[in-house]
Amino acid sequence: MKVLVIGANGQVGTHLITKLAERGHEPVGMIRDTDQVKAIEDAGGKTVLGDLEKDFSQALYGCEAVIFAAGSGPHTGADKTIMIDQEGAIKAVDEAKQQGIKRFVMLSTVGSDYPEKGPDEMKPYLYAKKRADEHLKATNLTYTILRPGRLSNDPGTGKVRASETLEDKSGQIPREDVAAVLAEVLENEHTFNRSFEVLDGDHSISDAIGQL
Ligand code: NAP
Repeated sequence: MKVLVIGANGQVGTHLITKLAERGHEPVGMIRDTDQVKAIEDAGGKTVLGDLEKDFSQALYGCEAVIFAAGSGPHTGADKTIMIDQEGAIKAVDEAKQQGIKRFVMLSTVGSDYPEKGPDEMKPYLYAKKRADEHLKATNLTYTILRPGRLSNDPGTGKVRASETLEDKSGQIPREDVAAVLAEVLENEHTFNRSFEVLDGDHSISDAIGQL
């Protein structure tokens, strides 16, 4: 499947290109800078230039699925959070719809379904993610919304816990495992039109998803 990864040069995104290529997909990484081409090609993907703050419609041409793994990061203000995490994601959803691309996977976060309960400094981010998630859910696209807890750069273990609402949200999850879950859900019908939380755990990714 030809899959556009938005945020391909990110820490999750680069792992995701590798995981998708390993599964026989044709990942295309949307990047903002030609200096990033080599890293994506080395990971097994092709590249297309696109910026979420501009018109990036051409990046989706010919794709069968979109995975949104971009974000403005923790060091920008609320304005960028709204421009990228919220409006960028909403534009990507609308563009997929416009181009007849049926499958959309959103990398969201734990807490995006109840932003009012989050710490004050996280609220702009959590509300932005919620609005993007709700926008996706209101379309007729086949969605999966993945809500990981705190991300780490530890090597992936392939072991996770997953639930629509995890009782214990402490702990973290390696970015490599988040990428593996994103690659796993792409064609897994059990995850179609569902949202779920994921953290490190004891189950293989396919078992954890199968038990949702
Ligand atoms: P990351 O390394 O910061 O990657 C974010 C990617 O978004 C980068 O590739 C960046 O591009 C891209 N991006 C930013 N602005 C863009 C724009 N205007 N147009 C196109 N692309 C743009 O983030 P990560 O660690 O992989 O995490 C991915 C996401 O996971 C986060 O954004 C967050 O929503 C979610 N998440 C994070 C945590 C956590 O604990 N940190 C927990 C749960 C969920 P450049 O490479 O060009 O800068």
